[in-house]
Amino acid sequence: MSDLSAFRAEVRTWLQENFPPSLQNKPPSNQAGRGAKFEGDMETWRLRLGEKGWSTPTWPVEYGGGGLSDKQAKVLREEMRAAGAFNPIGGFGTAMFGPTLLDVATEEQKKRYLPPIIRGDVHWCQGYSEPGAGSDLASLQSFAEDRGDYFVINGSKIWTSGAKEADWMYGIFRTDKSKKYEGISFICLDMKSEGVEVKPIMLISGQSPFNEVFFTDVVVPKENLIGEKNKGWAIGKHLLLHERQGIAGSGAMGATAYGLVEAARDYIGMNGDRLADGALRERIARQKMMAHAFSQTARRFTSEAAVHGPSPAIGILKVAWAKMNQDREELMIEIMGSRGLAWKGEEFNDEELGHVRSWLRSKANSIEGGSNEVNLNLVAKRVLGLKGY
Ligand SMILES: Cc1cc2nc3c(=O)[nH]c(=O)nc-3n(C[C@H](O)[C@H](O)[C@H](O)COP(=O)(O)OP(=O)(O)OC[C@H]3O[C@@H](n4cnc5c(N)ncnc54)[C@H](O)[C@@H]3O)c2cc1C
Repeated sequence: MSDLSAFRAEVRTWLQENFPPSLQNKPPSNQAGRGAKFEGDMETWRLRLGEKGWSTPTWPVEYGGGGLSDKQAKVLREEMRAAGAFNPIGGFGTAMFGPTLLDVATEEQKKRYLPPIIRGDVHWCQGYSEPGAGSDLASLQSFAEDRGDYFVINGSKIWTSGAKEADWMYGIFRTDKSKKYEGISFICLDMKSEGVEVKPIMLISGQSPFNEVFFTDVVVPKENLIGEKNKGWAIGKHLLLHERQGIAGSGAMGATAYGLVEAARDYIGMNGDRLADGALRERIARQKMMAHAFSQTARRFTSEAAVHGPSPAIGILKVAWAKMNQDREELMIEIMGSRGLAWKGEEFNDEELGHVRSWLRSKANSIEGGSNEVNLNLVAKRVLGLKGY
């Protein structure tokens, strides 16, 4: 038996012994590490998977990860899918902050921050954007004043996803006002610290997934500095590559024309065994082909990133994903016709209300993780080597 076959058998046995059958094909709507709090079988599963390190299969065992090779991780994914199992642990910690720590942090910091991320015990949020610093992020003004053993932070962040529920924030802060890029440091802070105030922002979708965060004389120990003082810009940018990789990667897993055919059958109707509207049939087929091509390309990028680290070329995929997802949502609303105007009321079912909110949410796809324009500028400069960008 090859090593990989033996590993497959080991995974299968482990899943049989540890994955509660009651959860089969019932992933939670939110993950631990993103604010979800579980009970019963879901909590048992989170603890078991986290303890095994298979929530982050390729991270080193010394920090609590699975220590698997990419091929083994693929086997694990396949076997989990076959068993109807899923990873209930995720969030900024596993997608961006953890991978960045593995690349740049000290041993002490890796041992301190990574195990709780792997188990999904801690929910991290990302403090980058400020009212005057979005695309031009390095203009940020929130100031961390160096007082010897600690920093004192004053200022504010905006669009901070999940800040209301988060336990900790990693972010970039100004530590030298006389320099732009060389005056920024990468710092973590406990959201329960005195002087941290979070105000939710209401969105067009009717939800408040992100917030303003205000800092008034917040004391942060020096040990929470990642990398060197005033060298945080490079770390902050590196993390963004992981963010775009994560957006494109999770897009790859979910890249389908999911629900379009079923919705067209219900709302438009059939002509024999074909959809009644020929033009719509072609558009859905086109969307399915795009989703398949995207998924294959994104998987290739993910495999390459596992070997060489994330590349600035990931911006291409991030932009492609945003367009594909927005097109899919638009198509769904068109298919639904007047039902696509659903906002509230008993005449609409939950699925219809959900589709409309999801369509509105997709407007943010071309802004979050860096806007399309900014990603394309980066591709022009760092991938194509074009001057003047
Ligand atoms: C759903 C969502 C979640 C988010 N979560 C977080 C989070 O958790 N933490 C966090 O820190 N931030 C978060 N953000 C903020 C996000 O990173 C910023 O919105 C984004 O970087 C754009 O910045 P801005 O909103 O200030 O727009 P601006 O920078 O003001 O840009 C406005 C417009 O001008 C264009 N533009 C700007 N500069 C250029 C240029 N040089 N060339 C061409 N066009 C340009 C932009 O493309 C955009 O269309 C989130 C945003 C969204 C939508």
